[in-house]
Amino acid sequence: MAPYQILLYYLYTPLDDPAAYVGEHTVLCERLGLRGRVLVAAEGINGTVSGTVEATEEYMRAVHADERTAAVEFKIDPAEGHAFPRLAVKRREEVVALGLGRRDFSPLETTGEYLEPREWRAMIGRDDVVLLDARNDYEWALGRFEGAVLPGVENFRELPGWVERNRRRLEGKKILTYCTGGIRCEKFSGYLRREGFPDVYQLHGGIVSYGKDEATRGEKFEGKCYVFDERLAVDVNRTGGRSVVAECLHCGTRSDRYVNCAWAACNARHFCCEGCERRSRRYCGRACAEAAVVSLAADGSDGFSWGTPAQ
Ligand SMILES: [Zn+2]
Ligand SMILES: [Zn+2]
Repeated sequence: MAPYQILLYYLYTPLDDPAAYVGEHTVLCERLGLRGRVLVAAEGINGTVSGTVEATEEYMRAVHADERTAAVEFKIDPAEGHAFPRLAVKRREEVVALGLGRRDFSPLETTGEYLEPREWRAMIGRDDVVLLDARNDYEWALGRFEGAVLPGVENFRELPGWVERNRRRLEGKKILTYCTGGIRCEKFSGYLRREGFPDVYQLHGGIVSYGKDEATRGEKFEGKCYVFDERLAVDVNRTGGRSVVAECLHCGTRSDRYVNCAWAACNARHFCCEGCERRSRRYCGRACAEAAVVSLAADGSDGFSWGTPAQ
């Protein structure tokens, strides 16, 4: 059995005094030696933490013993060690920000209908359905449901604008939305309903729960699921199927190897196959390769070691 666990969870629940909750929760997490990120707002809580099995089990008992958060559903992954460099428990205005401003609402008032993994699998093949990935482009680039519509957005706040521009693709369809752990869809599916789409559904517990479900075993998901911890990627589909859908930035062959651009000022994470890593010297593009040499030259070094001629 792995000695550590990674927990992922959220709950929309009214918290009267979020600042006080942050204080108490920080004490709890520090006492248990947990690391990760917990966002606390008046509307609820959204967290992902890592710790030893013993510490994470005690944490889950503590969260469930608090009547405000007794309904939290934890997704649990075994791990060999911590998945985060540090702990951050933070106060936020919203646990998930769709950037609606004055049009903002609570998913407790309006949200899409939940589909459990088995119901989801039965629905996604239908003709009258649009399968809509509610995540960012760098997430679905690593893996997604077969046949999903993939909005080219870098941030969740850009999704309402995308919906505006793509209304006609969505009208008259059953809209099925999914995200990593389910929290973004609580909001996004509610937003779609408020925008006048009557038939909106969400994958309950997101891709992570779907991958753990014993009946569906992640079927129809291709590639891997992007996660916001040091693992970056987790497996979903245990029935076979395409395990890599990501493409090398340089040559377009299938590769889900993440590398960071060798120019420190860029550092952009990108997919890069082994061959292209050698040829590109791990720069994400010509501009970065040239900029790196120029900036090193400004430091008094030109980025190459020329060797010293023998005397
Ligand atoms: Zn390549
Ligand atoms: Zn770069």
